[in-house]
Formats: sequence, structure tokens, C-alpha cells
Amino acid sequence: MDSSSVNKVLRNLPQIEEILQDERLKALKPYLSQHILTDCARGAVREMRRTILNETCIAVDKDSLAEATYKKACAYLSPSLRRVINATGVVIHTNLGRSALAKEAVDAVVDVARGYSTLEYDTASLSRGSRHTHIERLICALTGAEAALAVNNNAAATMMVLSEFASDKEVIVSRGELVEIGGSFRIPDIMAFSHAHMKEVGTTNKTHQSDYENSLTPHTALLLKVHPSNYRITGFTESVGIAALRRVADNENKRRRKAAEYIQNENKTEVSNKVLIYEDQGSGAFVHLDCFGAYAEPTVKESLKAGADLVSFSGDKLLGGPQAGIIAGSKYCIDRLKKNPLARVLRLDKMTLAALEATLRLYLNPSYAGEHIPTLRMLSERSESVRKRAEYLAKAIENVVSPQCARIGLVEETGCAGGGALPMCAIKTHAVRISFLKGNAQECETFLVQRRTIPIIGRIKKDCVVLDARTITEEDVTEIAAALKAYFADITDIPCI
Ligand SMILES: *Cc1c(COP(=O)(O)O)cnc(C)c1O
Repeated sequence: MDSSSVNKVLRNLPQIEEILQDERLKALKPYLSQHILTDCARGAVREMRRTILNETCIAVDKDSLAEATYKKACAYLSPSLRRVINATGVVIHTNLGRSALAKEAVDAVVDVARGYSTLEYDTASLSRGSRHTHIERLICALTGAEAALAVNNNAAATMMVLSEFASDKEVIVSRGELVEIGGSFRIPDIMAFSHAHMKEVGTTNKTHQSDYENSLTPHTALLLKVHPSNYRITGFTESVGIAALRRVADNENKRRRKAAEYIQNENKTEVSNKVLIYEDQGSGAFVHLDCFGAYAEPTVKESLKAGADLVSFSGDKLLGGPQAGIIAGSKYCIDRLKKNPLARVLRLDKMTLAALEATLRLYLNPSYAGEHIPTLRMLSERSESVRKRAEYLAKAIENVVSPQCARIGLVEETGCAGGGALPMCAIKTHAVRISFLKGNAQECETFLVQRRTIPIIGRIKKDCVVLDARTITEEDVTEIAAALKAYFADITDIPCI
């Protein structure tokens, strides 16, 4: 096309007003303002102008302009953050929102979100209360801590503890525990950000009690222990447990007290001058599940009992609650944290608090928690029971997908907990494997994610789509079968059965 005919085509582009007369767009008026609709139409016109100038389009098609506008408008109306079906088998899947909440937690969120609440109101005294009280008593009862506090997430909790107790002071940490956890959480970075001076001790594989002892100085504020979460060093290894760190800290604190007495000649020392032990426990198990087997992590209660002054952990990993960072420990330490300005900056909102309180309440009876908290239930479900659900899923798919389109089979897989929890604990699981006679795995995966209202996230293995039954529910089965039926209907004329 020469430039004059291009210009002629461009002149045919309709007015925005004209596009908006389309019936489909008129139907959206109750949901979208004129301003948004106009923007969508402008965007559609801009794109068509570009294709005309690139000569990939040689005539103005008003209907496709209206259609493009409609698509843009609908994109505003369909939620971006929405439910998906997790068929990956990874229970604590960080990209998919980590932990599904227990029904009790969901109900509590809805109840509190709908109206006003006792968020900071104390019904006993008829006056202002504290938002910490809702969860503190429960955490103390469940972990044996004297006091507790919850903030936005465990990364925030770590930063807060380091800034309160170790700003411009020294923190001793083992080289084997200088970890990076997914999503750019790195211990040395958090340390620098909190103005704590990190003193690495030991080697990558071995750190001894004497390494900590030899690194103590009058500026040491914390002995930090970090759960290695998503990795393990195995073989010739040694690390120092909380009980041993307690001995190191007690000896040092005794020595400091003596020194202070000698100087002041009176029986008074600053508590703030004590070396404290802080464990970043990551997953934060409250109970030992049978499925953890030999890989069971110490629970929060055990770490506190062994002598940690503070333990922090996530709310949405092994605990199975909402995103949060929980800090449990001595009253002295928690009181100081509550007064830190970061407590206000990082505070939880009412919905999270409601979910957390309800989740914690379930732990008052650990076996009830094991059954009713989805994360715990999924992790501990027996392999045979997962297999039954996989068989049920395979049948449901076979019922609607022709054998000319795909072969459906069962496979035994080895899954993992995810979220940095129980990294060495291989969880036996069962999945449905779909091998393709029509279409292919990549295309099907894209269809399942992009073309369905509820995206289905599985895995591809050797040109097959693999759907793990551990992380799906029986209700999900109908949706998965319907989605696969729709995929094959989309690419073939072979009648579905
Ligand atoms: C996961 C993890 C964190 C970060 O917790 P978030 O709740 O995701 O912020 C910090 N430390 C350890 C050891 C972890 O495993």
C-alpha cells in the first residue's frame, strides 16, 4: 500500500463514541465508568492504527474494534488474584499462596471483615484494647512462651528482632546457616538492613560450640540460629543446638554480670546487656506429624524449652494459617518488640488476625488441627488415600476424554512439602498422567491455565501432563475433567464421551 491509501484506511477509523454504541459495550455500563470504557476503546483504536501502519491490516473492521474494546474492558472486570487448582503436589506452594485456610479461619475472616470488630476494643474494661491480645494468649498456651507478637511475615519478624536487639551490635551466626530463602530473603542482607554486624563463625559444613565462644565480644548482642529451610548439608556436618547456645550465652552473661559488679561494685546490671538467643525457625511446626518421620523439625515449644529467648516463624508454612510472622519468647523481649516503631509499621490487619486466631485455636487439640487444617491434612494424608483420589480423577477424565485423544494413567511420584519446610522429607504421592495422541502437553498446560475461569496448575513431565492428587480436593475433580474435555473439544472433532 502506498502512503495515500494507508491514510485513506486510517481516516476510516471510527470515532470513540461510535465504538461505544456497540451492544456488548453498552451492557458493561453498569460496571465500568464512561472514562474506563473510553480508555479501552482508545487503546483498541491505537492498536488497530499500528497494524494499519505496519500494513498487517488493510481495512478498518468496526466489529473487531468493538470486540477488542470489549476484551480490554472485561480484563478489568475479571479478577487477577483468584482461586486456582493446585495439581502440583507441592503442599506449601509459595507461588500459589502457600496455605489454604481451614474453614474455621475463613469463617472468622468473613465475620470480622463484614462489620466492626473488637480489633482494638477490650470488652472487659469497655475501653481501648490491644490487637495483640487476640492471639498472644493462644500462642503462649501452645508454645509455652511467656509472651508473643505477630507481624506481617517472618521476614519482617526477623528484621524487627535484629533491629531491636542488635542494631550497631554484633550477631553471631554459623556459616552453615547463612541461607537464602526463595523470594530474595537473605540472612546477610536482612542483617545489613537492620544495622546488625554479622559475625560468621565455623565453616559451611561444621560449626562447633567453641566457634561461638571464641567470637564473643562485649558487643555481642545475639546468637542467631537460622533454620536452613530449603536445603540441607549432609555428610560430615555439625551444628550447634539451642541448648548448647544457651550454655554459651549463660556463661557469657555470668561473666558480664561479674565484670559489671566489679566495676560498679553493686548488684545491678542492665538486662539489655545480655546476650540473647534468637532462632529464625522458618516453618514453625507446632506439632509432630507422623508423616514427618525422621525429618521432624523441632517444634517452637521445644526450641523455647531448650533455651531460646525468641523464636520466630511464618504463619502460612507448616502452621497452615494466614501470612504472618509470629515471634514467641520471654516477656522482657516481646515487651521491647511491642514498643519498637516497627511493630506499628508491620502490624497485622483484622482479617489476618481473625484467620490466625482461628487457626491457632484449632491447635488446642492437635489431632483436630491435623484433620482440619488443610496444610497438615494434605501433608499427612496416607499415600493409599491419595491414590484413591488419583484413581477417581483418572476415571472422571476417562469418562469425558476419548481414548483417541489421550491415554490416562496413574503414576507414583515423590513430592515435597514446599515452602522450605521438611526439605529432606520425601512424600510419596500419586498423580494422573495424561499422554497425548491429539494435541500436546505444552498446549494443554497453557489451555488449563489461560482458558479456564479457575486455572489448573499441574506439571509437565516427558511430554505428559501430570496432575498430582495430593493437593486437590474431590470437588476439584469435576472441574479438572471439564477442563480437559474442553481442551480436546477445542482441538479435535472427535466427539467427547
Ligand atoms: C520462609 C522463611 C523466612 C521468610 O518467612 P516469610 O513468612 O516468607 O516472610 C525466613 N526465614 C526462614 C528460615 C524461612 O524458612
